[in-house]
Amino acid sequence: MSQTVPRPASRRASGLPRSAIREIMSLAAGKPGVIHLEVGEPDAPTPAHIIEGAFRAAREGWTRYSSNAGLPSLREKVAARVSRRSGRAVPAERIVVTTGAVGGLYSALMSVLDPGDEVLIPDPGWPNYEAIAHLAGARAVRFALSPQRKFLPDMEEIRRLTSERTKAILINTPGNPTGAVFPRELLRSLVEHCRGTGIYLVSDEVYEDIVFEGEHVSAGAFDAADRVFVVSGASKSFAMTGWRLGWLVCPPQLAGVATGLQEPVTSCASTIAQKAAEAALDGGDACVRELAAAFRRRRDMVVEVLGKQGLLPMVPAGAFYAMVDVSRTGQDSLGVCKRLLQSHAVAAVPGITFGPASDRYIRIAFTVADDELRTGLSRLADFLK
Ligand code: PLP
Repeated sequence: MSQTVPRPASRRASGLPRSAIREIMSLAAGKPGVIHLEVGEPDAPTPAHIIEGAFRAAREGWTRYSSNAGLPSLREKVAARVSRRSGRAVPAERIVVTTGAVGGLYSALMSVLDPGDEVLIPDPGWPNYEAIAHLAGARAVRFALSPQRKFLPDMEEIRRLTSERTKAILINTPGNPTGAVFPRELLRSLVEHCRGTGIYLVSDEVYEDIVFEGEHVSAGAFDAADRVFVVSGASKSFAMTGWRLGWLVCPPQLAGVATGLQEPVTSCASTIAQKAAEAALDGGDACVRELAAAFRRRRDMVVEVLGKQGLLPMVPAGAFYAMVDVSRTGQDSLGVCKRLLQSHAVAAVPGITFGPASDRYIRIAFTVADDELRTGLSRLADFLK
């Protein structure tokens, strides 16, 4: 029998954009004394009443599949929360429970994108947006978030970039990596634009509970249910990143499509994690406020140390990240992060990870204990002196 070589891996899978953060993480792994400002997750443990809810659920037999869209009881609780926050009645039929907010983003984009379609995504923006568009065979078109505009989109540019091929605009408020919180009028303009053009708004609001200035306004707060997907979840609000529990609020006409997408990918989110999320939503907001207060304190520390030196293009208004301007080094952001790690034992994320226009920044996450953060900040300030 003649010999053959194995056929190649899928072009889509092997062509996934690679993130520069991986390079920094593998350089930092195992290196002693490193202050980790690269990791974007709450450092606090999941609150005890939520863990208890999961144990109880497992003992009571919540150990089987749920329906694709999630447990009806959790969908009801999420719908109640979303309705309360957006000021609009959202029925449980519009909620799809997903494996983390990333599962919600994937489901929203896969629900509307075909190969060759375009989706507008922010620069800087979370790298998974581009990766999901790539998996859908769609083209990600970047719109700029510039410090001159407080890292908010320019509606003129959004209008200019919207073409016949555009299916959706993806936004993120509060924003990673910028810390920008979108004002109500901007969200209204974005929704109006979607109404006027027939495209969808996909709003990633996973940091909705971590706001220091102003208030979080949901893209779901406007009269345009058939144009808007809202993505959120338990990860950041309840320190539950490892539980993989998120949710998607769908336009009513697309809830069935988004639900159907769960079957071949995950079937459903973990049932035990769904019950834990019920305990989180039933347990009140005290633990959420406590988490947010810790991030505010650390945000203030970042501003105190780096702001004074003119290194912050903007004071973060939400989420738990700050962009730091490293242009004075004259080096690209990956080079800066490598040197920072080698010479000052601080791990940070190169701005280029978030988009081609963001190479003059690095991103730090203020998700470590206060004393560690202070040490990391003074090392960073010394490095950039
Ligand atoms: N969206 C943004 C902007 C994020 O930064 C993250 C995680 O870091 C996610 C979504 C994903 O959240 P989850 O862990 O719930 O999938």
